[in-house]
Amino acid sequence: MLFSKALIPTLKETPADAEVASHQLMLRAGMIRKLAAGIYSYLPLAQRVLQKLKIIIREEMNSIDGQEITLPAVQPSEIWEKSGRWNIYGKELLRFKDRNNRNFCLGPTHEEVITDLIRREVKSYRELPLTLYQIQTKFRDEIRPRFGIMRAREFVMKDAYSFDRDEAGAEESYHKMYQAYTNIFERCGLEFRAVEADTGSIGGSFSHEFMVLADSGEDVVVYCEGCGYAANLEKAEVKPPVGLLENESLKNLEKVHTPEQKTVDEVTNFLGITPDNLIKTLIFDTDKGPIAVLVRGDHEINEIKLKNLLGCEYLLLADDDTVEKVTGAPRGFAGPLDLNIPVYADNILKGATNMVTGGNGKDVHYKNVNEPRDFKTTRFADLRTAEEGDPCARCGKPLHMRRGIEVGHIFKLGTKYSKSLHATYLDQAGKESLIVMGCYGIGVGRTVAAAVEQHHDKDGIIFPKALTPYQVLMLPININDEILRKAAFQMYDKLSQAGIEVLFDDRDERPGIKFKDADLIGIPIRITIGSRNFERGKVEVKYRESGKMELIDSEKTVKYIKGFFNKKI
Ligand SMILES: [Zn+2]
Repeated sequence: MLFSKALIPTLKETPADAEVASHQLMLRAGMIRKLAAGIYSYLPLAQRVLQKLKIIIREEMNSIDGQEITLPAVQPSEIWEKSGRWNIYGKELLRFKDRNNRNFCLGPTHEEVITDLIRREVKSYRELPLTLYQIQTKFRDEIRPRFGIMRAREFVMKDAYSFDRDEAGAEESYHKMYQAYTNIFERCGLEFRAVEADTGSIGGSFSHEFMVLADSGEDVVVYCEGCGYAANLEKAEVKPPVGLLENESLKNLEKVHTPEQKTVDEVTNFLGITPDNLIKTLIFDTDKGPIAVLVRGDHEINEIKLKNLLGCEYLLLADDDTVEKVTGAPRGFAGPLDLNIPVYADNILKGATNMVTGGNGKDVHYKNVNEPRDFKTTRFADLRTAEEGDPCARCGKPLHMRRGIEVGHIFKLGTKYSKSLHATYLDQAGKESLIVMGCYGIGVGRTVAAAVEQHHDKDGIIFPKALTPYQVLMLPININDEILRKAAFQMYDKLSQAGIEVLFDDRDERPGIKFKDADLIGIPIRITIGSRNFERGKVEVKYRESGKMELIDSEKTVKYIKGFFNKKI
């Protein structure tokens, strides 16, 4: 491709509203342009990157017998009403009416559509298992679209769905997909981790997220180097302490006056203690009535763990009225002593000695509270959010944390949708059974953004080999020098004929501008043709990643580039 004919509108300045590197660099490299909030056009460079990623995805999906389909983007409300999601999906679902006043939505996901299709088309066990996938534009009306195509409203996604006769088959499909996803992100040259993720209230199912590691990531990856355990922050389990942590003698319970001291900071400062000597008591409203939850003052409660423990749909911090009704005190003074509601406590509080808690009265706290001497606990469980250095639940070694960007999610669905949409098949005995499903997504645009987040420097993008829009950027120093111009075009033809993807910067621009754009766009190899080197039969090769430069024989350029791209990663 000749740069002079390409639509690559690079920008010198960083656009003011772009917060993260991928957003800034993709705008500056002329890859994307915003049409409206969270809605982007993909320009030719981005399109080429997407195309490469899609090829990798298709190859890996096809290798596990996935079959590609295209489902409608516009979906009628009826199937969403059947699955029960029309009313609970919320404002992210963009709804509208057609000319006949029928309700439709723009698909944010396709479980309903595909389950409805399979319900009609699959009748017998002989037709199962089946894995179908598509690569398609989806729409979710995010409340706060941001970070460019990382969290857009309109986005390209690969979604796949597996249909099996039974749980064992569904698990096998899941494991195949896990391996395919691993292959995809490895082939992209991305550093990533597959982490265990929360599955919500669907019991017996499991789920993994694929996270590209990057400091700018919104998610936290918790991992153990001891046993390989990895989970997202919501899910990461903490090993319960073995035996008592402290061996203090139990002091007598003491009521203390704590005027207006409500928060952990206020109370600990006022009493001259550290937060790990305090029990934080939180009152929650649930669909099973109010409950109290205890965590140590320096820990964060993990509401997802709590929700899973209770098996409830609804869980929210109680309002002031409920807190007052339940504890007899305004917010800030709740404690576990003499509470008449269920009390759930984090494992670390088992046998806790001489702690401070709220006193269930205005301006009152207790000192020297001891478990179990002074209060009753309904149940101990892992209820806090893991922190750096916490013991791994599997092997006890310290947990570590890194930030990540979720680019893929695989989920064993079970029969949630086949039940509500009545997707069944006749088994060998002629009995009607529910199809067991899995669903699997890759954010295609987001993977590209994540690749840029992970691979860039102050000058621009550093594309991994597998995703780069072109393999080589060819840059003649002076395009107006007839001899050089001719030589450059000859080399361009030669490389192109050899099947190498070349972006040839034939623009009549100063070299400085061309070099800057080359670094910004981030093609792995830059070949500079200058007259002095060329007279000696040499061209200059610069690697975008290492910045290393060397002179090579211009005759050997094809062989050289092929060698570079054939080397793994
Ligand atoms: Zn471990």
